[in-house]
Amino acid sequence: MHKKLFLSTIVVVMVTLVLSILAIGLVFNRQFDNYLTQTTEATLEQLPDRLGTLYQTYGEWDQKALAALTRSLPMGTELTLSDPQGKVIYQASTAMDKMMNGQQNMMGRSSERIWKTQTYTISGEQGLLGTAVVRYPANGHTLSPQDVGFITDILRSLLLAGGVALILGILLSYWISRRLVTPLQHLTKAAQNIGAGRLDERVPVLSRDEVGKLAQAFNVMADNLTKQEQLRRQFTADVAHELRTPLASIRSYIEAFQDGVLSANEENYAALNQEIDRLVALVSSLKDLNLAEIGALQIEIHPFDLGNLLDGMLHNLQPLLAAKQLTLLWHKPEEPVNVQGDERLLTQLFYNLVHNAYKYTEPGGQIVLELAPDKQAVVVRVTDSGNGISEHDLPLIFERFYRADKSRARQTGGAGIGLALVRQITELHQGTVSVTSTIGQGSVFTVELPRYQDSFQRE
Ligand code: ADP
Repeated sequence: MHKKLFLSTIVVVMVTLVLSILAIGLVFNRQFDNYLTQTTEATLEQLPDRLGTLYQTYGEWDQKALAALTRSLPMGTELTLSDPQGKVIYQASTAMDKMMNGQQNMMGRSSERIWKTQTYTISGEQGLLGTAVVRYPANGHTLSPQDVGFITDILRSLLLAGGVALILGILLSYWISRRLVTPLQHLTKAAQNIGAGRLDERVPVLSRDEVGKLAQAFNVMADNLTKQEQLRRQFTADVAHELRTPLASIRSYIEAFQDGVLSANEENYAALNQEIDRLVALVSSLKDLNLAEIGALQIEIHPFDLGNLLDGMLHNLQPLLAAKQLTLLWHKPEEPVNVQGDERLLTQLFYNLVHNAYKYTEPGGQIVLELAPDKQAVVVRVTDSGNGISEHDLPLIFERFYRADKSRARQTGGAGIGLALVRQITELHQGTVSVTSTIGQGSVFTVELPRYQDSFQRE
């Protein structure tokens, strides 16, 4: 990648350089040709006067003087001088062409030569002295040594500028390709490390461009992976703990039965059964949560009276509430409140909410359960006078395995999956769940479900 970028930049620089040198050369060539033609023409303008003066000086067409004058004409010029009768008196050319035989015009372009002809009438005091016909090249000028020197200078400066541009281009493209490629190399290495399980790997964010954003996104992803990994570890530890407590208890019951320490009566069997129930409930919540999260939870939807469902759920919890001397206020509407959904899952949802209210409220506290049917929706509100949830924890309690007060939650037997399941079940029923809480005063959990009349469809 680094090499490719570098080479392609170099190629672009070279092509640009060659093209611009060619373009400059072409334009320069044409302009220089024009310039030489103009210079030639300017010199030739003075020819009639000069010839007139020559004639005045010598009183005749002196061949030597004419030859000297011809030599001073621009390269390649042909002069033919005729007397008034049209007889050719003198003919010569500044035949540099012959001297510099085969010399191509600059930039190596050899092309068809174009000639121009000018006719001048030469007159003096004596009247008409003669006619001079001058033929001179209008392109592809034969260059004088000064011209060649001038062009060589220009070419040299062009090549020098090109060389400097090329070196700068090479340095710049090397720098740019390094700048682009180095962060990508960091990313590749970091991705390989993360792939190999080293989750603490992060990449430096060196810029604010797309590559910088990629590095940033990579770090966020790595943070999330680390968080997930921590949660997973925490969860495994929690589940192990949750499973170990009832299992140890079951084992001690059985050992006590075997040793005859405890009589195998109905009361002891019931206690044993309770531990087994706790285990089964935990395992099934875990299974439900897992299924809900991967969207594979089977739900059986049919209409039913939510008031009845809450009655049944409270019936199971009543002994617990009574044992903790918690007052329960249950505001149940007289009319049936029909909703549509999965009874088992909705029972679990409200059980979790009231059970949390029970867990996190000190003995002697109060729990209020309200069912308020609306036209569009049905609202179930669970209010407790418990210890409340801090502002910091409030947005997180619906995350799986999140427990606000870890030591306390452990005592109360929570693994942080109750509310995660509440949220999943509510969403499955196209409802919403929200919470408000004041530390030391209590919490209010509100679940809103669509009414039965609404066309309920599982997405
Ligand atoms: P857990 O099994 O630990 O109760 P949940 O998912 O049900 O797990 O609840 C997550 C956390 O939210 C709990 O650990 C507790 O700190 C807090 N929480 C839930 N309900 C209440 C409540 N009614 N009063 C105070 N804190 C609560």
